[in-house]
Amino acid sequence: LVARMRPFGTTIFAEMSALAVRTGAVNLGQGFPDTDGPPEMLAAAAEALRTGQNQYPPGPGIPALRTAVAAHQRRFWGLEYDPDGEVVVTAGATEAIAAAILALCEPGDEVVCFEPYYDSYAASIALAGAVRRPVTLRPADSGRYAFDPAALRAAFGPRTRLVLLNSPHNPTGKVFTPAELTMIAELCQEHDAYAVTDEVYEHLVFTDADAPHVPLATLPGMRERTLRISSAGKTFSCTGWKVGWASGPASLVSALLRVKQFLTFVNAAPLQPAVAAALALPDDYYTGFRDGLQRQRDQLTAGLLDAGFGVLAPEGTYFVTADVTPLGGRDGVEFCLALPERCGVVAVPTQVFYDDVEAGRRLVRFAFCKRPEVLAEAVTRLRGLP
Ligand code: PMP
Ligand code: GLN
Repeated sequence: LVARMRPFGTTIFAEMSALAVRTGAVNLGQGFPDTDGPPEMLAAAAEALRTGQNQYPPGPGIPALRTAVAAHQRRFWGLEYDPDGEVVVTAGATEAIAAAILALCEPGDEVVCFEPYYDSYAASIALAGAVRRPVTLRPADSGRYAFDPAALRAAFGPRTRLVLLNSPHNPTGKVFTPAELTMIAELCQEHDAYAVTDEVYEHLVFTDADAPHVPLATLPGMRERTLRISSAGKTFSCTGWKVGWASGPASLVSALLRVKQFLTFVNAAPLQPAVAAALALPDDYYTGFRDGLQRQRDQLTAGLLDAGFGVLAPEGTYFVTADVTPLGGRDGVEFCLALPERCGVVAVPTQVFYDDVEAGRRLVRFAFCKRPEVLAEAVTRLRGLP
């Protein structure tokens, strides 16, 4: 194995899901829903399979899906992208993130990101030979996660090539505020850096969040330097389909496509018309989806508080982070490894998403994208923690 990949072991998600299977625990680790997405989408996929849409689709994705992606961004965010040249379909957001970094970063270039970061970020940056410059999100007095603006400014420098921003943010559930986004946008422009935005939770901002979701690309001067990435997995509860996309100015999208064509060439033909159909669903679908997850968030958050955890209320995503200190825990990894034996529940230690391990030492992440009865069972087990 090449040196730059040696620091990366098996992903924490695979490890913790395997632990859940081995111990028969309730799996609130890896973030995947336990119900299927909209029936219209499933029917469209079955229809495409039956009607011979089973060969290589066009490299950038089928026109119907690129058109649907562009229409969706106009409808929800007022962003205009040309489906021919400014949108590309990828194997999930994961491939789009990797291809974007590989396309834009020379070895030694720096990528500003926020920690805790989604695990593929560090690996994609390493694959490109680039260097990550993390800015730490910490629980603040507001009860939300926040960063020090001076630390953000200090992370930018002459080698900064891009900022990689995930909002709504996994694992913290933070939604970056317009003021924070403005700060990021100004620094990007000051340093002539690109932005790659991971917005897979764009439709999961809860009604009591401090601010709505604002795509960074909508800020002045940002559309022309931003690759905006999302995926069907979260919004349509089909994480196993791995259909994602990137949009941006043609120069950035064609750079990404140049790399993507040699990673996967093209992606799942029969799933593309189905995702196109899902993106066109009426607003009711999107609000119903969010409201359901918000109720699940409330259920799990209340249960965790009841069980004695220190809970940091998430404003969005599938996840809630909790401090194990009130339960006598000192280390999230130790806590999560022992949890299945202690009470039959699996969670993910968030310290593995930090370079500054101390900052995340006592934090663990629970996924609430599960049926209410599953969450209720998990809460019962957690309340019985010895
Ligand atoms: N980014 C974030 C923040 C995620 O939580 C995930 C996990 N779904 C991904 C990217 C990967 O998305 P996909 O499964 O579409 O590759
Ligand atoms: N995005 C999901 C999570 O954060 C799952 C990711 C994965 O399994 N690679 O849990």
